[in-house]
Amino acid sequence: MRKLIIEARVNEYMLREEGNPNVPYSPEEIAADAVACREAGAAVLHFHARRPDGAPEHAAQAYAETVARIRAASDILVHPTLGYVTLDASSESRLDHVLRMAQDRERAPHFAPMDMGSVNVDRYNAQARRFETKGLIYKNGTDTLEYFANNIRAAGLKPYLVSWNIGFTRYASAFLEMGLLDEPAYLCFCLTDNTFLGGHPGTLKGLQAHLDFLPQDRRVEWTVCNFGGNLFALAATVISLGGHISIGLGDYTYRELGTPTNAELVARIREIARELGREVASPDEAKHILGMR
Ligand code: ZN
Repeated sequence: MRKLIIEARVNEYMLREEGNPNVPYSPEEIAADAVACREAGAAVLHFHARRPDGAPEHAAQAYAETVARIRAASDILVHPTLGYVTLDASSESRLDHVLRMAQDRERAPHFAPMDMGSVNVDRYNAQARRFETKGLIYKNGTDTLEYFANNIRAAGLKPYLVSWNIGFTRYASAFLEMGLLDEPAYLCFCLTDNTFLGGHPGTLKGLQAHLDFLPQDRRVEWTVCNFGGNLFALAATVISLGGHISIGLGDYTYRELGTPTNAELVARIREIARELGREVASPDEAKHILGMR
């Protein structure tokens, strides 16, 4: 069977106070996690720059420093964020830090993300039956996505497509039809359990709905994350169906397992994959699978 690409989603905007002290914040901590996750079997590392207190860090310099540290320490493929809730930032300013890094060999990331649509990202508190925030929209207009597709390609990076629901998956298909994306496309189904209601649930039915709408006449490598929930319930199914796995403390604290590290989550996925007859891909093998230069 084809090799499995494991991506470590090490921090997002998860706070240690939410239950796991192993969420990395600083460039040093993120780079150390990169090394540990690579040894455990990850081929890709996804990170968000953070301030020492865990608050989001949007400075381009912080991204450049973190990528430089990761690349000096490991051959893991690097996937930085474009930033998360962007109510009014321009397309250019959202991609700017990635395009600047791409020009510098030591700071060039390998992927740039494109969430293929817009979605509400307010936090829902199911116990209290109320939303904790009410105005947060992750906005990705068609014009912005075309700008991203053109400029990410021109910079020589691989677009990391993210789909929160079938509408996003259909957008990815349309972009493939328009020739704006190269095949194989790399598409992450972002399932959302608890808290965020904008994605499909982290269940077999939630995953299957996405798979039902994948374009049959296009080459798409797909991966799955569960933003807000435990991905292990679905992991064996994803691996058996030929998908890839994106997992980490950024999405969920995994308190069911105590206080695991990102590398421990990766190692656990690798074990499950081995039992199912799939070995993990190295960064070079992942590049080959995804048709990257
Ligand atoms: Zn992210």
